[in-house]
Amino acid sequence: MKLLLVLAVVAAALWLWRSGRSSVPARSAVAPTQAQDMIACGLCQVHVPAAEAIAGKRGRYCCTQHRQQAEP
Ligand SMILES: [Zn+2]
Repeated sequence: MKLLLVLAVVAAALWLWRSGRSSVPARSAVAPTQAQDMIACGLCQVHVPAAEAIAGKRGRYCCTQHRQQAEP
């Protein structure tokens, strides 16, 4: 019975250790997603978040005006 208790304690400790360890990379994995990918405008080279960039045929731009100027 004592062995079972020891096994239960070890299993609980391992579970706690694993869950504690797995939560650390999960937290650090959030940081790169918060730091957005920055891309340079194809015309003025201004860096804008990739999500806000305007996609053109020859590249990505900071705004539709620059896309039109670069790709008439
Ligand atoms: Zn631009």
